Amino acid sequence: MGFATDAIHAGQEPDPTTGAIVTPIYQTSTYVQQGLGRHRGFEYARTQNPTRSAVEANIAALEKGIGALAFSSGMAAISAVVTFMKQGERVVVTEDLYGGTYRLFERVLTQFGIRFSYVDSSRLDVVEKAMGEDVKLVFLETPTNPVLRLTDVKAVSDLAHRFKARVVVDNTFMSPFFQRPLELGADLVLHSATKYLNGHSDSIGGVVVAARKEDAEHLAFVQNTVGAILSPFDSWLLLRGTKTLALRMERHNTNAIALAAFLSKHPKVQKVYYPGLPEHPGHELAKQQMSGFGGMLSFETGSLEAAQRVLEGARVFSLAESLGGVESLISHPATMTHASIPVEDR
Ligand code: PLP
Repeated sequence: MGFATDAIHAGQEPDPTTGAIVTPIYQTSTYVQQGLGRHRGFEYARTQNPTRSAVEANIAALEKGIGALAFSSGMAAISAVVTFMKQGERVVVTEDLYGGTYRLFERVLTQFGIRFSYVDSSRLDVVEKAMGEDVKLVFLETPTNPVLRLTDVKAVSDLAHRFKARVVVDNTFMSPFFQRPLELGADLVLHSATKYLNGHSDSIGGVVVAARKEDAEHLAFVQNTVGAILSPFDSWLLLRGTKTLALRMERHNTNAIALAAFLSKHPKVQKVYYPGLPEHPGHELAKQQMSGFGGMLSFETGSLEAAQRVLEGARVFSLAESLGGVESLISHPATMTHASIPVEDR
């Protein structure tokens, strides 16, 4: 099926008991078993829930993976991915990544002996220099939040696989509608499902999609063991969201292209970061590995005071953290979403 059809139908059968066309919210903590060791595949709702299974199958189909696991937030999804790591091993990471991911890596995971090397992953030679026997995971965010730098997923995956390291891509900014990292050679793809996948700014969630069965099984084990599961209601909201993903992404893309063109001609705007602009350093790569440029852009106003005037003067755009909902949001990453990045790096 095509993407838009899969978005509506994949993983969703009419409810077997009533024929309800929309997957019901199975709001239950446990399931009655027929006898000792005899049940219908559902024992306890941390382990399995039909609403969650439906959204996991749906997103696995959209990302062309073998299986997906839904978590209570994007950060919980990222935490599940790093359980592929052991003490003493190292992760090579895209340097200008989401501030919360950086905080998890630096303030929590370094305490357990996992090490992180932050590199400009848009440069293959720089990634290559950072690789070594101890690197077991390459964590890419492409495009990056917030300066929209692009990494060549295929080239980095080929390199990482020579070192027997897994590649995971945070695909939050593009959604599978515009970019499918597993098809480019990545092993895992993750999302803050809070953003485009949900699309309605009414739920927090995360998802990891695996290319291989054994990785999906490991993630299912971690999901059940740690317990940071997506709730039945949030799973239902997410399923409602993915149904319109194709339409929303097309419109986000059209709007952002128009806005980027307007801002890049504006005399008070110093620089616009948007992969759809021909002068963007990743423009050619964007055309190869993505089928659109997405709905996120950033721009420089020259000073904090000027930025403040723009932020507070905007009328349709609301000043808020997050992205990917139907409302238009504007934010100042250095003091909001990326405040936990050291000042000199910001
Ligand atoms: N990855 C990216 C690129 C993000 O922008 C965010 C949140 O803004 C996250 C991960 C974390 O997701 P969540 O807020 O759902 O935990």
